[in-house]
Amino acid sequence: MLVVVALGGNAFNRPGDPITQETHLKNADIAARIVAKILREGNQVLLTHGNGPQVGYLAELQKGQEGFRLDALVAATQGLLGYFIVSSLDKYVGVGKTVALVTRVKVDCNDPAFENPTKFIGPTYPEEVAKSLAERYGWQFRQDPRGGWRRVVPSPKPLKVVESDVVKVLIERGYIVVAAGGGGVPVCDGAGVEAVIDKDLASAVLAAEVGADLFMILTDVDGVYINFKKPGQRKLASVSVGELEKYYLEGHFPPGSMGPKVEAALYFVKRTGKRAAIGALEEGYEVYKGLSGTQVYA
Ligand code: ADP
Ligand code: MG
Repeated sequence: MLVVVALGGNAFNRPGDPITQETHLKNADIAARIVAKILREGNQVLLTHGNGPQVGYLAELQKGQEGFRLDALVAATQGLLGYFIVSSLDKYVGVGKTVALVTRVKVDCNDPAFENPTKFIGPTYPEEVAKSLAERYGWQFRQDPRGGWRRVVPSPKPLKVVESDVVKVLIERGYIVVAAGGGGVPVCDGAGVEAVIDKDLASAVLAAEVGADLFMILTDVDGVYINFKKPGQRKLASVSVGELEKYYLEGHFPPGSMGPKVEAALYFVKRTGKRAAIGALEEGYEVYKGLSGTQVYA
């Protein structure tokens, strides 16, 4: 079975963790252990990952200088996090079996998202600090539902992973591949653009393109809930595309967090008829087995 495992950017850097190599390696190890377990059952694994905290951190570092644009910073985080995943997997599957690629994703130059930035990147700030940063650098901020204010950037829809053929060939040759990190470097008309593509949607597009049998999204919550943090909260253990879509349209899943994960799962299952699953990183193996998280079926 070809299993696509999408890791949250927060899986590497839990809220409150300092941004250091040690925290990233420690968290990458949790993911690597689970991936190794899935591989041991005779599967192939393609990994993707988010980069929200890391791309925001790099953008912060070069604040006040011309520096590199967002497309280049996404590429930088693919190298950074890809390197951590590769080194962690080396310990469980052997050296030289895993490769992290810099991959680009095609978007529409006229995607309405360019006029309406929604994707959170970087740290949360008190309102006053956010205001002054907005004035100084022309950044846009929105209130994070989890508290504080965060920078937002456009998040256009991923249409196609430019290098999906290369990814396929490497998987066919037996390699473990890390691709579409941070949602991929957004390109339109062949040039990089200032945006961050949602990694869940980009991962779903890639998973369908390479013919995956299972698409798993591992994050910091143990499944998809309806009425999340409200009266009547209920976890969906097993759900059909039709039922999940109904809840999506009813507004149970906010944009920028659970919304894109549900959209991504729906995209994959509708295109392929195969299973998608959303669950907690720590329970990754059980999510793969269909025993934990939210299982989405055609
Ligand atoms: P990642 O970094 O893994 O992409 P996100 O923060 O983008 O993670 O999305 C996961 C978060 O979505 C959870 O921590 C949870 O607080 C939030 N969330 C919002 N609505 C829901 C819901 N209906 N069910 C489950 N989690 C939800
Ligand atoms: Mg996210």
